[in-house]
Formats: sequence, C-alpha cells, structure tokens
Amino acid sequence: MNVGVLALQGDVREHVAALRELGVDAKLVKLPKDLKDVQGLIIPGGESTTIGKLMVIFDLLEPIRHRIQAGTMAAWGTCAGMILLSKNVNDHDQPLLNVMDSRIQRNSFGSQIDSFEADIPIQCIDGEPFPAVFIRAPTVESVGPHVEVLARLPADGRIVAIQQDTMFATAFHPEIVSDRRLHQHFLTLCNEVSA
Ligand code: GLN
Repeated sequence: MNVGVLALQGDVREHVAALRELGVDAKLVKLPKDLKDVQGLIIPGGESTTIGKLMVIFDLLEPIRHRIQAGTMAAWGTCAGMILLSKNVNDHDQPLLNVMDSRIQRNSFGSQIDSFEADIPIQCIDGEPFPAVFIRAPTVESVGPHVEVLARLPADGRIVAIQQDTMFATAFHPEIVSDRRLHQHFLTLCNEVSA
C-alpha cells in the first residue's frame, strides 16, 4: 500500500514508525511529485500556520486539495492536520486545504501546559476507549451535514474526531501512543480509495 506522510514540520517520524508497525513503508511527501501513486496522506500534528505556509511555498496546497476532492487520495489530519483540512478556523487567517466541512477552534484547551490525556470511545474502532493525547489541541466547533462525528470528549462533549467520506481528522495524537487502531482505520480508508 502506498501511503504518504506530509513531511514539512511536526510529528512526521512518529507517523512513519506507526505505519511501519502495520507493515506499510510510508512515503515522505515534500514536493508535489511525491504525491504520485499515493492512496492516502497523513497530515501530522505540529504547527498549522507553519505547515500551511510551507505548503504554499512548496506548491503543495493545490495538488493535495485536488487529489482529496477528486476522491483519489484519502487524508487523515491529526491535531494541526485537522486544522489544515478544515474549511473554517475561528479568529485566524491562515492557509487551509479547505476540504472538510468543519469549523475549528484552535488551542481549544489553552497552552502547552494544559495538555492532557483522556480515554475516549471512538465510533470507528472496536474495544476499549482510545488513549488520546491532547497537546495544544483544537476542537471541532461545528460540522456540515456530510460530516460524521466519531468522538466527543466525555468530560464536556466537545467534538474531537470527525470523518467525511475518506477524509478523517482527530484533534489528538495517535502516533505517540502504542495503540494502532486509528492508523489501521486510516489504512481501511486508503483501501477504499484504491478500490
Ligand atoms: N496548536 C497547534 C496549531 O494550532 C496544533 C498543535 C498540535 O498539532 N499538537 O496549529
């Protein structure tokens, strides 16, 4: 399977290692040509303004948007990646892929010091709740009619995982825990695209 990880800034290595555990050799995507034959793209956590600016500089914004909208590439945004996939972000003007019908609140829980871990049930996985790590995390303020809400924070009901067709977004960081169920879920989406 041909899966890419956007490798401009952020948790790139961690996602590559997680995919390797599942037997997938990820391709690092740094330039538009790296998107060739890629069935799915992970947009990692990091700093969404930085990743967005680098996508503009390296001419990646349009090609990635085009592949996602054409339905020829699945996408998964984690944390900053969730912000970049969205159509709207509160109070910020920044480059976005503008593909998921969602409105995002950045830094929804405060600063780095307010990071936390929570076990949350997620609709796309079986078994135990998922150990979700939130680091300067966004939350989803609202979604359009075609977006499925997959998880809410048990404490206050804020939305932290969504899916729209083969686009998937999580507010937390599955790549830094040992649970691989969400990476597995994303591979299922990548298979749907190639089918
Ligand atoms: N707060 C960051 C942003 O707004 C996201 C943090 C993260 O990806 N861990 O881009």
